[in-house]
Amino acid sequence: MIFLKYFKKLLIQISSLFYFNKRSKVIFYHDIHDLISHTHMSTPIDLFKEHVSIIRNQGYEIVNNITSEYGQIEICFDDGFQGIYDNIDYLKKNNIFINLFIITSNINKKGFLNNKQLEELINLNVITISSHTHQHKIATSQSYINFKNDIIISKNYLQNLTNIKINSLCYPLGYYSHKTNNIAKEVGFQKLYTCVPGFYSRNNTKNRSLVQFSQRSEFKAILNGGDHILSFWYKFKYFKR
Ligand SMILES: [Zn+2]
Repeated sequence: MIFLKYFKKLLIQISSLFYFNKRSKVIFYHDIHDLISHTHMSTPIDLFKEHVSIIRNQGYEIVNNITSEYGQIEICFDDGFQGIYDNIDYLKKNNIFINLFIITSNINKKGFLNNKQLEELINLNVITISSHTHQHKIATSQSYINFKNDIIISKNYLQNLTNIKINSLCYPLGYYSHKTNNIAKEVGFQKLYTCVPGFYSRNNTKNRSLVQFSQRSEFKAILNGGDHILSFWYKFKYFKR
C-alpha cells in the first residue's frame, strides 16, 4: 500500500514534466483548520495558504467558475464542515473563491455548517453553494427513484435557503454512471463533479484533483497536470457501466 502511494506520487511528478501546459483545473479539499479541526480530512490552514501562494505564483487565477481552458483554478470543499466559517476572514481578505458542496442532511450537525452560518456565507461573493446530495449515499448503488428524490431534496433545500438556482452536484465518494448523470440532468443539475483527477473539460462531468494533504512538490506537480495520467485508472474505478 505504501509502495503504491509512493509509486503514484512519483508518477505524478514525472508526468507533470511532460504534461505542463497550464490547463485549468478543479481541485478539492474537505475542510481547513487553524487550531480546531472538525474532521480528520481537514487541511491545516498553513498548508492551504501555501497552496494558494503556489497557485498564484504560477500565474493561475482562482475563480468561482472556470470559463477558460487555460490558467484558471476552481477550489471545491466537500461535505460542508465548519472550518470554512472559522477561516472566512482569510478567504474573504484574499479573494479566494470557494465552491462549497453541502450534504444537506448534515446541516446543523456538530462540526458541520448550520443554517445561520450558511446564510452568512451565501452573502459573500467568495462563496458558491452547491449540492453534495442529501444523504451522501453512493449514487450508483441506489435505485432511480431513491437517487432522484435524494438530489431533489438537496437541491430544493439549498435553493430555498439561498434563493439561487443550484446547478452543480458533486457525487458522494466519487461513484457515477451514465444513469446517475442522466438523473442529475433531469433534476436540473448542469455540472457534475467527480473525483477523477485531470484537466478541466467542457463536458457536464468535471474532473477534480484531491489535494488536501499534498505537500509543496506534489501540489506543484498536480497543478502542472501530473495526475492527469491517473484519470483513466480513476475512471475505471469510479465510473460504473
Ligand atoms: Zn463527500
